[in-house]
Amino acid sequence: MPITPTEKIWFNGELIPWDQAQIHILTHTLHYGMGVFEGIRAYETEDGPGVFRLTDHMRRLAESAQIMMMPLPYSVEELVQAAKETVASTGLPSCYVRPIAYYGYGEMGLNTLPCSVDVAIACWPWGAYLGDDAATKGVRMKISSWQRHDHNIMPPSSKTTGNYVNSSLAKVEALKAGYDEAILLNRAGMVAECTGENIFVSRKGKLITPPVASGALEGITQDTVMTIARDLGFEVVLGDLSRADLYVADEMFVCGTAAEVSAVNSVDDRDLPCPGPMTTAIAHEYAKAVRGQVDRYKDWVEHAR
Ligand code: PMP
Repeated sequence: MPITPTEKIWFNGELIPWDQAQIHILTHTLHYGMGVFEGIRAYETEDGPGVFRLTDHMRRLAESAQIMMMPLPYSVEELVQAAKETVASTGLPSCYVRPIAYYGYGEMGLNTLPCSVDVAIACWPWGAYLGDDAATKGVRMKISSWQRHDHNIMPPSSKTTGNYVNSSLAKVEALKAGYDEAILLNRAGMVAECTGENIFVSRKGKLITPPVASGALEGITQDTVMTIARDLGFEVVLGDLSRADLYVADEMFVCGTAAEVSAVNSVDDRDLPCPGPMTTAIAHEYAKAVRGQVDRYKDWVEHAR
């Protein structure tokens, strides 16, 4: 998706002009893939842009860094403040927010211990990740021939840049085959997640979503959806799903910061009822929650100014 530039990017403590946020070709992370990042959305609210669950995203960034043994030079609170400043500097009512921490220029080789860590936060306008129709008409999914990372190979619970080689392989394979998105199974053959979304399946009145142990990222939207679904009176469990569980789902949706709540209309060419009533109710409440329109979820909306 093409990027629409904004004015400033936060880089190591200051806002600098968009075009000056450049790195050297020998930047360590460019070669070895060990950076950690986040994907966050700021939504238009009555009180200006509200960054949804900003602190939770920055906490996950810190946890990703901790898993990777990367010393972050800023606290979660400092990163929250920096993201707010960056969002406010764009003047946009809503935008996508991308913090990244990476090993910079100065060292080569696989020992990261002597490397310095650089941190940047960029914001730009970004529309519906799986297409404008995803919430209503749904997306076509395909089980990937690629497996999700194993916990002892590339920890899937860390949002590490290098992990997304696996996601990109699966995404491109699915697109080339005429599908919208891929579903990755773990090494035990159970459902993990999509290339950038967590999965929810409804069966016999119960919503089931695979946990971190399955190889899924601990999704912040997944957590939001579980809270909303329970508040709407639905039963929600974290649990294992086989591919056949997806084929006989009463309804299914995927969710993530970029994709929000996107209905699924088929898996491996087995049609599913779409959008189902649970998906519709949850997607509706989610759209209101992120815009600060639901009182009980107001604390999740962190205003940029
Ligand atoms: N799984 C993967 C692999 C992802 O990249 C994302 C997006 N960060 C998600 C799930 C959903 O996570 P979140 O709801 O926190 O955006």
